[in-house]
Amino acid sequence: MNFDFSYVDIAFKNGNVITVNDKDEIAQAVGIKKNKIVFVGTNEDLDKIVDEKTKIIDLKGRTLTPGFIDCHFHPILSGFMNGAIIDITYPKCKSIAEIKEVIKKAVTNTQKGGWIKLWGYDQNKLEEKRHVNIDDLDEVAPDNPVQCMRACGHIGVYNTLGLAAGGINSPEDAKKFGKDEVVVENGKLNGMTKDLTNFYLWSKVKYTDDEMWDALKRSNDILLKCGVTSIHDPGECDAPSYSIMYKASRNGSFKPRQYMMLHSIFGKPFSLKDNERFIENGFHTGLGDEKFRIGTCKFMIDGGTSGPSCATRQPYSHDPTLPGILSWGREETAEYIEYINDHDCQATAHAVGDLAVEYMVEGYEKALKKYPRKPEEHRHRIEHCAITDDDLVNRMAKMGIIPVSNTHFMTINGSDYCKYYGDRIEHFFAMRSYLDAGLKPVIGCDAPTATPEVTRGLDGAVNRIDRKTGKVCGASQRISMMEAIRCYTINGAYASFEDDIKGSIEVGKLADLVVFDKDILAINPVDIVNCKVDYTMIDGKICYKREK
Ligand SMILES: [Zn+2]
Repeated sequence: MNFDFSYVDIAFKNGNVITVNDKDEIAQAVGIKKNKIVFVGTNEDLDKIVDEKTKIIDLKGRTLTPGFIDCHFHPILSGFMNGAIIDITYPKCKSIAEIKEVIKKAVTNTQKGGWIKLWGYDQNKLEEKRHVNIDDLDEVAPDNPVQCMRACGHIGVYNTLGLAAGGINSPEDAKKFGKDEVVVENGKLNGMTKDLTNFYLWSKVKYTDDEMWDALKRSNDILLKCGVTSIHDPGECDAPSYSIMYKASRNGSFKPRQYMMLHSIFGKPFSLKDNERFIENGFHTGLGDEKFRIGTCKFMIDGGTSGPSCATRQPYSHDPTLPGILSWGREETAEYIEYINDHDCQATAHAVGDLAVEYMVEGYEKALKKYPRKPEEHRHRIEHCAITDDDLVNRMAKMGIIPVSNTHFMTINGSDYCKYYGDRIEHFFAMRSYLDAGLKPVIGCDAPTATPEVTRGLDGAVNRIDRKTGKVCGASQRISMMEAIRCYTINGAYASFEDDIKGSIEVGKLADLVVFDKDILAINPVDIVNCKVDYTMIDGKICYKREK
């Protein structure tokens, strides 16, 4: 390449530059022109290509890395939870009594009939040690529909008007929905709904454009502060959210680059409709540009890690009677993957437990046998892919399937996972096994489930310490800091077919960069949680600078 080096716009020098190139080389200096990296090398060589107009940032030994790519981040949902709708997470609300007070206040600011949306209770942390119920909500909001979400997002409690919005008016109506998905207690609706029915009711909840914009702004700010320069959005509120994400990218109010999965949290019919419209109209994965791209066709097979409600092959260790959630059948999964693969798109699904992962692996095997595509052509993925075993990992490796790990979860839920899954913790977010098998795992925080601090994601991959209890959970799956950085940068770029334009610090790539206050390769790895992001640069522009 023949670059004109004579006037670099911005230069970083005296750094510890983790390039994440093929050789994992460390450089001292980086030069940027417009939105591209045009120089990577020594301080001495950099000096030859700066002039008085160049803005020089002296790193003084600090670390410069490629921008981080969070491969599973729901920007609108996390913004909602981050204050754009009413936040009732502990310790903001310590009891049901306090939640009721919050609702009472909201009622005075909401028109009659307008939705009141609350997010984030956890019955285990509430003083009453129970779930919120329909009576609690009706008592304080008789004239407004209320949605009160548990922190996991899989369980939502609604009042009488809220349930009625989805046609649930009596215990009899509960029978029209999935087994146990509308909870009936002593012959009465108790307000609690689970999974598909909760998602269906969610589609009836009204959000204003202002609420969505506010949510995006909040997510933008936190991502930049955490060092995240690209996200893969695993789905939000159906079609309006694709449109608003696109607008936010174009008008610059949401700065991280977006790779959008076609998936709606409102449930199966919504996601299928989005995917099928896309495919039937002849579009393909990759439509868009480096700021906003339509990515994969996504669906959702089972429940979550922490309920626990994922679909496992063996019962949960702490309570063998507890059923997992399974929304897709084995054949149906295989057929859907085949449909996506046949149309040259990238497939993925939320598959947490090993049974759900098995469905996916089997589906990919069938689809790729019928219509073979090379790993770099399909880059099919599995979101979460939490529980596996050696056989599943080897089969994934043969096809080049990308596992999307939520390593952040280890730092907040690790001890619970040990309890729920027993020995399976040694195959849980199995980063070591993936890398040893030659896979290219990626990392995503799944906000709002976890917050997007890059240091937390690295901590979960490298140390696997539950930071609440101090317990190390599944030590055999720990990976090195350098490996974790690669998963979080270049592998993330690979997962969106963009490793040729971002994910490492190399000449010609987009200038998406992060500066840490310490040398993150030299510190004791357990101290990664104490490192801070000093700068975040996207597209050659510094969009975050830490105030000291
Ligand atoms: Zn998710």
